[in-house]
Amino acid sequence: MEASVTTKIKCPTCGAVLILGGSNTIDQEALCVRLKGTKYLDYARISSPGLQWCPDLSDAAPMGVSLLPPGYRTEVEAEIARVENSA
Ligand SMILES: [Zn+2]
Repeated sequence: MEASVTTKIKCPTCGAVLILGGSNTIDQEALCVRLKGTKYLDYARISSPGLQWCPDLSDAAPMGVSLLPPGYRTEVEAEIARVENSA
């Protein structure tokens, strides 16, 4: 991948947009609404890694770009389901 290329990735579920810049910097125009209410959006409550995107946005990322650390997907999906069910 060219270092100077900027890629925009839109979450198919909530419309949040991630911007992948050169040297794999990541900016986000909006946070994934699916994560609203989960501990993953709250940096104060977790030590790491501070996820700002839902698994759907991670799926939309190009090959080779890993947004969800391995093993996190199940955990994040479970947390989203838990929050949605308790709303
Ligand atoms: Zn999303």
